[in-house]
Amino acid sequence: MNRPLRPQRPPRISFVSLGCPKALVDSERIVTRLRAEGYELARDHAGADLAIVNTCGFLDSAQAESLAAVGAAMAENGKVIVTGCMGAEPEKITAVHPGVLAVSGPQQYESVVDAVHCAVPRPHDPYADLIPPQGIKLTPRHYAYLKISDGCNNRCTFCIIPKLRGDLVSRPAADVLREAERLVAAGVKELLVISQDTSAYGVDLKYAESRWKGRPVRAKFIDLARELGEFGVWVRLHYVYPYPHVDAVIELMADGKVLPYLDVPFQHASPAVLERMRRPAAQARTLERIRKWREQCPSLTLRSTFIVGFPGETEADFAALLEWLSAAELDRVGCFRYEAVAGAAANAHGHAVPEPLKEERWNRLMAHQQAISFKRLARRIGRNERVIIDEVGPAGAKGRSKGDAPQIDGAVFVTSRRPLRVGEIATVKIERADAYDLHGAVVGY
Ligand code: SF4
Repeated sequence: MNRPLRPQRPPRISFVSLGCPKALVDSERIVTRLRAEGYELARDHAGADLAIVNTCGFLDSAQAESLAAVGAAMAENGKVIVTGCMGAEPEKITAVHPGVLAVSGPQQYESVVDAVHCAVPRPHDPYADLIPPQGIKLTPRHYAYLKISDGCNNRCTFCIIPKLRGDLVSRPAADVLREAERLVAAGVKELLVISQDTSAYGVDLKYAESRWKGRPVRAKFIDLARELGEFGVWVRLHYVYPYPHVDAVIELMADGKVLPYLDVPFQHASPAVLERMRRPAAQARTLERIRKWREQCPSLTLRSTFIVGFPGETEADFAALLEWLSAAELDRVGCFRYEAVAGAAANAHGHAVPEPLKEERWNRLMAHQQAISFKRLARRIGRNERVIIDEVGPAGAKGRSKGDAPQIDGAVFVTSRRPLRVGEIATVKIERADAYDLHGAVVGY
């Protein structure tokens, strides 16, 4: 009797994804392609036939973390392919880990997949080719990052991203909308729009139209935001610069089309420092703009990041930053100590701020902002807010309000009469606030 042949075990690949959400999207594309070809993902390097490390090269500390991750993969597996931002300077990797199989830069999906084919041949299994149309996601099922462009036309002097990823390249609007539609159909409840500079979306395409549902849609920030708002899910905008046309998107927020949340990386407030940083839209009168945005959309949550200890930052510059923070009353603030990344133009400025002083300023800024964040959160006590549930446990659940992005902002800890499900959106009465998080009870499902 002929016994059916047992299919061979598909090759397994372990994957480490470091860095920002943009790198995560690159990882998702690579993983999607490999799964489409029948490869499987392994939980750890030791049980895999091959390991891939998607590196981050943004800061020296990120590069050190990337090299350590490659080292761990080499030690536990031995067959390692390296890709991502740090791959733009392959010699930095091969000098430390000469045994890696291949190194490729950011967005070089084809090179990664080719290197995988060489190291572990592609399996032939027609069933494995059946993958979900939304691709493979590395985020939980209920939210997904939507990358609308890559690269950047700005030349901020502390940043080497344009060197690593090149100038701005936007995706046609219809392409983005098709991906969003697939994600929503697959159960995604929150789309997180990302890029290096979201408000510059489409500049490289001269805002060209593409056809979506039988009508033309311009590759323009406001048009795309409006269309995304039609999907009926939460739409969160990250990395928006305060160019004048951003004001129009606040209307969409006030109308409930996109989340009343703006992530604007201001980086500093002292005009002298901003000029040396060569920040886009630095001249705009930001405090005035913020006041108008809040007038137009009172529920707006503003998030930003700052750098302290930029070369030449004086005590007066730093004091101006603290004063600006007091006036702006941002809801969420992240702060980095300046790192002299190799290749960043700012290093040529000299006048480096000593490390202990950077540390001291970082602590002062964090303490200063903590009081502001607490005050902003405390205003929400007594309100009913919609909360998306990220985790459930025996004692309650952890979720996020419309003002909290995953990973970077605070959380809402909720109690509920009935068990909640991950991805569910419930109405929560806010009962208590601390410096970063809110606490409340579900009053509606
Ligand atoms: S806007 Fe500035 S900081 Fe952001 S990626 Fe572009 S050059 Fe870097």
